[in-house]
Amino acid sequence: MDTSLADDVLHRFVLEKAGVRGVLVRLGPVWREVAARAEYPDELRQLLGQSLVASALLTGNIKLEGELSLELKTQGPLRLLFAECTEQGRMRGLARWQGDLPAPLRLDQLEGAVMAITIGNVERGQRYQGLVGLEQAALGPALESYFARSEQLPAKLLLAADQNHAVGLMLQRMPDHGGIEVEVDADGWDRVQHLMATLGDEEALAVAPETLLHRLFHEENVRLFEARPLRFGCSCSRERVQRMLRSLGRDEVEAALEARNGEIEVICEFCAERYTFDRVDAEHLLAVELPGEAHPGMQ
Ligand SMILES: [Zn+2]
Repeated sequence: MDTSLADDVLHRFVLEKAGVRGVLVRLGPVWREVAARAEYPDELRQLLGQSLVASALLTGNIKLEGELSLELKTQGPLRLLFAECTEQGRMRGLARWQGDLPAPLRLDQLEGAVMAITIGNVERGQRYQGLVGLEQAALGPALESYFARSEQLPAKLLLAADQNHAVGLMLQRMPDHGGIEVEVDADGWDRVQHLMATLGDEEALAVAPETLLHRLFHEENVRLFEARPLRFGCSCSRERVQRMLRSLGRDEVEAALEARNGEIEVICEFCAERYTFDRVDAEHLLAVELPGEAHPGMQ
């Protein structure tokens, strides 16, 4: 079977017998594109893959307008980790680090760490932000307690990433069965969690989505909805870079011009797009005073 056909997709499904809904995301090329941006140490690459796939999973059961992002900042060597999925299924992500990362890389042992989930439309200023508690070592369990704490529906997550793929599976108990006529037995939620617990990372990464769901839940009447395609993409633009430079102020812009023989080069960390500005461009952009907006991936 050619499993590449099943890559970069989000599947929503319902386990009718148990009254549970789910999302399964499998990333191939999208993940490889993100992972190729830097020489990530192994554990950080895995955490980035898990975060990227989680950002898509979390869009599965909400009505998203704009984008959903997962962002981790710490005071230690892992400076920043950012993953984003938009309502159109456009995804990007990156991590920044400095020096040696702690090994193992556990979320609950990161110095001064804050993780936030932001949902909404940045340009229109409509945003919701929730903080993820970091009492667990791994991202999956941390997000499970986020769901429990934010009084959303209980959720169970599996997140896995290797060199080629990143895969995520999320189950959520439906409230009054989501208005769907289903025959629900009382211990359905426990039963499907046990079934999910039989799935290891290796199998999750190796098997195509539909096969995987069938293997795990064939006795639960899986109803699969139409798959949503996901793709790599960036929202950077020359205008956004100009805004970022303006927010730095004249002194910094002039120092940058000085340091680089009269040319500023800005490379987007997400997509490697190059933006260059000479003295004339710089004068022009500094002459316009607009409220600046920093871009998380620009350097
Ligand atoms: Zn970009």
